[in-house]
Amino acid sequence: MTEVLAGERKQQSPVKGSLIEIFSSFQGEGGVVRGSCFGRRQIFVRLAGCNLHCIWCDTASSRDVNAPTCRVETVPGSWKFTTTANPVTVDFTIEQILNLSTKDLHSVSLTGGEPTFQEEFFYELTNKLYELEIPIYLETNGYYPQRIEKVAPLISYACVDIKDRSANSVKKGNWEKLVERELTSLSILNNFPAKVFAKLVVTEDTNLNDVQMIANKLREIVIPIVVQPVTPLGGAKAPSAQKLFQITETLAETLPTDLFGLSIQGHKLLKLL
Ligand code: SF4
Repeated sequence: MTEVLAGERKQQSPVKGSLIEIFSSFQGEGGVVRGSCFGRRQIFVRLAGCNLHCIWCDTASSRDVNAPTCRVETVPGSWKFTTTANPVTVDFTIEQILNLSTKDLHSVSLTGGEPTFQEEFFYELTNKLYELEIPIYLETNGYYPQRIEKVAPLISYACVDIKDRSANSVKKGNWEKLVERELTSLSILNNFPAKVFAKLVVTEDTNLNDVQMIANKLREIVIPIVVQPVTPLGGAKAPSAQKLFQITETLAETLPTDLFGLSIQGHKLLKLL
């Protein structure tokens, strides 16, 4: 399939963008809700740049849109990389994706950083992947609903973050606006064939009122949510088991139980990329 698809590509795109890495692995997040690709083989394209500042960000080095180089796995699953100077073209990115394609490939994960941050590059890359009939899994912070709207018909699966206040993603006072943007992105994607879910990273300091508010909003648009215990970074404390129970019991006050579940970062447990 790869060779045929490569041969079908016709037009070169001059658009360039900064990447952090491209590699093949299993999707380690998402749990069991609709839209999750947990356990699926994916090629991960990590785009550089992000507009938020979550205290527990586990890809902090990806936030710099001026990252000088990116690393590209040479053979799928080998964890052997070459280094390439940024910015790179969309066509270069597609070549690497095709090179890393395996029989069990489920989808290409566009992740970051925030993949929509480099708007034009994200748009071109998404369109090229769609032309090649490669399913796209979008992992986004949901901050740019208008950018998401432009590509929403092309997306097969999407995970949109919903941040609670303990993430400190934005300056104080703007948290409600951030949630509005995230919910708008979820609604837009949900109007298209994409299977969509929300991801809430939780800490010991997650406020149950925030969880209740988010659950109320999700009930209106009937979108599932996964609760993901934070990897303790930046001073964020991992939630206790008791806190996790409190969070899912709070969700259950509003949502049917098949609309939420836990997401454990399986790739970290298995020490995968
Ligand atoms: S949105 Fe994602 S990449 Fe951006 S700061 Fe938050 S965790 Fe990091």
